[in-house]
Amino acid sequence: MDKRKGILANLILLTLGIVAVVHILPSNGTFSLKNLIARISGPCTSPIEYRVGQIDPRFNISASTFLTDIDQAANIWNSSYGKTLFTYNSEGELAVNLVYDSRQTLDTQINNLQSNVQNQKGNLDQQISQYESLVVSFNSKVSDFENQIKYWNSRGGAPPDVYSQLIQQQKNLSQEANKLNLMAAQLNQSTVSYNTQVGTLNQTINEFNTALSLKPEEGLYDPKTDSINIYFTSSQPELIHMLAHELGHALGLQHNPNNQSIMYPYATNTQTPTQDDLRALKTLCGK
Ligand SMILES: [Zn+2]
Repeated sequence: MDKRKGILANLILLTLGIVAVVHILPSNGTFSLKNLIARISGPCTSPIEYRVGQIDPRFNISASTFLTDIDQAANIWNSSYGKTLFTYNSEGELAVNLVYDSRQTLDTQINNLQSNVQNQKGNLDQQISQYESLVVSFNSKVSDFENQIKYWNSRGGAPPDVYSQLIQQQKNLSQEANKLNLMAAQLNQSTVSYNTQVGTLNQTINEFNTALSLKPEEGLYDPKTDSINIYFTSSQPELIHMLAHELGHALGLQHNPNNQSIMYPYATNTQTPTQDDLRALKTLCGK
């Protein structure tokens, strides 16, 4: 099954005062190719026996944990059908493997970058709004000060005590302006670094989507070798969904277009078969 990354990453353009949104839209995926073979004995007559095959250590998952996930995926079908369609056997024919490739690396990178970018954006938004409210208050002080100057100029000058007070006000305003400018410079710098991160994130997503377009299957059932290969996974619910999906193929089920279905061609987290899934199961198994 396939999965494309479609995420929104925000670029902060501080100088323009515009928050631009960079959309990486998912492009059209291709359906994973499935050669369906009817088992010699006919589908669903005797349980398919699965075993844990090879696990690439980079997945950082133990064989027993992986088996628990496969059991859970198998039980989705077993309990829906009310009969054992899949069962574990350490010598079983159907090997379920975790095969590591570059997409898992990219996926991990993307997750890390995404959380960095989100944190930075939260901090920046807060600092920018603080800065903006300080600027508003500063501008009102400046306009107040200018009105006082105009007033005294129209009277041909201020008396000495007022004059020295105005000079002091001017010094304070100038100090405040310096502080604000320093803040703005720091914010600009933070924004540049944030935008760079967003650029890296979007580039990594592009690489990921390119890798996916060359090799769209996140998981694959291969009828020739009678094995299921899982290439990468973002989360445990997604892994269980993918395992259930590929087990469905091993049984002989085909894709259906309902996006809530286990046999929907794209990876999701759903773990409950839809009516479409169940109908296909009944047609296949004849119940
Ligand atoms: Zn599929």
